[in-house]
Amino acid sequence: MLDQTEHILRQLIGFPTVSADSNLELIHYVASLLEDVGAKIELQHDATRKKANLFATIGPDIAGGIVLSGHSDVVPVSDQNWRTDPFTLEKEDGRYYGRGTCDMKGFIAATLAMAPTFAAHQLKRPIHFAFTYDEEVGCLGAQDLVQILGHRPHLPAAAIVGEPTDMKIVEGHKGCCEYSVYFEGHAGHGSMPDHGVNAAEYATRYVSKLLELREALKGRAPKDSPFDPPWTTINVGRIEGGTAHNVICNHAEVDWEMRPIAQADADWVNGILQSFCQDDLLPNMRKIWPDSNITTRTIGEVIGLTPLRSNEARDIVVALTGSNDSHFVPFGTEAGLFQELGIATIVCGPGSIEQAHKADEFLEIGQLKQCLSMLDKLAHSMKAA
Ligand SMILES: [Zn+2]
Repeated sequence: MLDQTEHILRQLIGFPTVSADSNLELIHYVASLLEDVGAKIELQHDATRKKANLFATIGPDIAGGIVLSGHSDVVPVSDQNWRTDPFTLEKEDGRYYGRGTCDMKGFIAATLAMAPTFAAHQLKRPIHFAFTYDEEVGCLGAQDLVQILGHRPHLPAAAIVGEPTDMKIVEGHKGCCEYSVYFEGHAGHGSMPDHGVNAAEYATRYVSKLLELREALKGRAPKDSPFDPPWTTINVGRIEGGTAHNVICNHAEVDWEMRPIAQADADWVNGILQSFCQDDLLPNMRKIWPDSNITTRTIGEVIGLTPLRSNEARDIVVALTGSNDSHFVPFGTEAGLFQELGIATIVCGPGSIEQAHKADEFLEIGQLKQCLSMLDKLAHSMKAA
């Protein structure tokens, strides 16, 4: 089974599915593998038709299935210094190297290698494969996918999201909200600052407000917060604007993210920022130049995975792996979207998040073996009596 998984992983790594680019070649390859074992395949294209989600089902067409979920896209390799070609799988010292090996084509390869086993059993509940696009840029594909799932007559009961957790069971993580904010002011000569609206200066005030909120959020964390750090965080990721020393800058941009531990924190932050812009910054800008503007574009608002007392996905994976520890991670996944639909969801997959998004990303072969063993037990446990 490992050889077959390695073979599939080699193909998957060979498709350079960086989020900005098409994932269709990969999706068509995956579809052909699943078609070969008789799975029912559904593709869902994005508006550009250059990307698609794949949802496939093996077993009876009924409710109560188990979703194996992964994202097909990877982060870029530009600006990273790789020892090897990131889009060619290299095997060395018990590891597979390549972009996406741990995040998260290793998991996808393992589920595909197991597909013939799933298909050979008479399953009492269906197994679904959900492979999405654009996870790394805000879970865009998964948001479309859950819309469609939500309208179906049969909802799956449980989902395993195979992001790299060292095969540990993760039952909670923070959300991830990303915003780009555009400041439009009015240009002028640097010697007459009162005659223009300096977009860079307003962007700076906005960033100061973000930093103020970041500190305030620390005081809002509940005492029993399972997260590390226990509070909602804010990060200013990119600031851009201006042309030269002596020019009043008329355009500036700020990219920032927030990782809320609860939706209430996200609402609180967004509420404060909205009134800060409407009641404070904009009136001051428009006093000088009426066409001044601040526009906020939401890149993605991915909700967190809330730890729940009863969680069938956790029970299933505990039974399969024998590990009863629950873990919490600071990174976001698509899991909260499935949970929001009422599907019991956990995150559990091979490899470490430590290696994700970095140069020389790798996956320990031992991790892949553990994943295959979990999926093999899953196949047996789902066999009709
Ligand atoms: Zn990932």
